[in-house]
Amino acid sequence: MNTPQQQIDYTKLKTDISQWATELGFAQVGISDLDLSEAGEHLNRWLEKEYYADMDYMHKHGAKRYHPEMLVPGTLSIISARLNYMDTDVKPYQTALAETQKAAVSRYALGRDYHKLMRNKLKKLAQKIEHAVGELGFRVFSDSAPVMEKAIAEKAGLGWIGKHSNVINPKAGSYFFLGEIYTDLPLPADEPQSFHCGSCTACIPACPTGAIVAPFQIDARRCISYLTIENHGVIPEHLRSAIGNRIYGCDDCQMVCPWNKFTEKTQEADFSPRQNLDDIELLELFDWTEKEFLAKTEGSPIRRIGYQSWQRNLAVALGNARTEPAIVEALTNKLDGVSDMVKEHIEWALQQHTQN
Ligand code: SF4
Repeated sequence: MNTPQQQIDYTKLKTDISQWATELGFAQVGISDLDLSEAGEHLNRWLEKEYYADMDYMHKHGAKRYHPEMLVPGTLSIISARLNYMDTDVKPYQTALAETQKAAVSRYALGRDYHKLMRNKLKKLAQKIEHAVGELGFRVFSDSAPVMEKAIAEKAGLGWIGKHSNVINPKAGSYFFLGEIYTDLPLPADEPQSFHCGSCTACIPACPTGAIVAPFQIDARRCISYLTIENHGVIPEHLRSAIGNRIYGCDDCQMVCPWNKFTEKTQEADFSPRQNLDDIELLELFDWTEKEFLAKTEGSPIRRIGYQSWQRNLAVALGNARTEPAIVEALTNKLDGVSDMVKEHIEWALQQHTQN
C-alpha cells in the first residue's frame, strides 16, 4: 500500500536518495525546483541569435523545455544526477591533439554510449525510491528530451554553468554526464551552486573555431562538436583547417579549464576506450568499410553519426595531417564510391597535401 505523502520525511528521503545514488555509481545527486525561467530567457536569446545552426529541435516543444510541469504533468521536483566519465588512465587528449596522424576523440565518446546506461541507473534509483515511499510518478531523462539539463544541475547544486556552457563542479571539474528524474514528490530543493569562473576566460580563446562568441554564448555553427556530430552535411571550408584531427567532438574548452585539475576518475569500466580510440591512426579508421564501422562502433555513441559523417570527419582530419604518400593514396583510392558530400571533403583534403 502506498505511504500517504504527509507521512514521508522528505529530508530523510533526500539523504537516502543520495546514499542509493552513490551505491548505483553516481558521483552526486541534487534536487531542483521547477523554476527554470532564467534558463528559458537565456535559451530564447540564444535562439533569437540563430546560434542553433540546423538543430531545429531546439525550437520544438516551446516552453516545455523550461516548464518541467508542462513536459511531465504532475512533476513537483527534479532529481539531477551526475556520472563521471573520464578514464584518467587513458592517453591524454592533449597528446592526441599533438599527434596529427592519429585521431582525437572527445573523451566522453571513447567507450560505451552513456544514454542507456544512465537511464537504467536512473530507473533503478527511482525504483528504490518507489520501494521506500510507494507508487511514484516519474520519468527519467538523459539527453533524450527537451530538458534543460545544465540549468537543472546548477539549480540542484551539482555545479555552475561555466563560460564555456558546461557544468563545473568545484570538486570534480566538468567531465561528467547528467541525467534527471522528474518526480511527483515534493522533495526540498538544494541550494544552487554559486559561480566560480571569476575573471578567468581561458576557454574562450582556446576554442579552435571561435565558437564561444561571448561568455555563455556558443555559436553552434562554429562549434566542432556540432560540426562533427550533429551536422550531417558539409563542414564549411573555412572551418576545416581549425578542426585539426578532431574526428568526433572537441574537448578543448574543458581541457584548458583550471577546474579540471580536480577531475574524478570514472567508476564505470564501460567508459574505457574501445577499438583503441584513444590512440589510433587516422588511416586505420579511414580504412574501415561501412560494415566494419557498424560492427566496431556497436554500443558506442559514435555509431549515431553514421558512416557518411564518419568518412567526412576523417577526410578533414587527413587533410590536416602531415603529408605522407600513404595518406594521399588512401584519399585518392576513396574518391570513387563515396557520396558527393564525402567526395567534396576528400578533394579538399587532397588539395591540402598538393598545395604544400
Ligand atoms: S576555462 Fe575559466 S572561464 Fe572557462 S569555464 Fe573554466 S573557469 Fe570558467
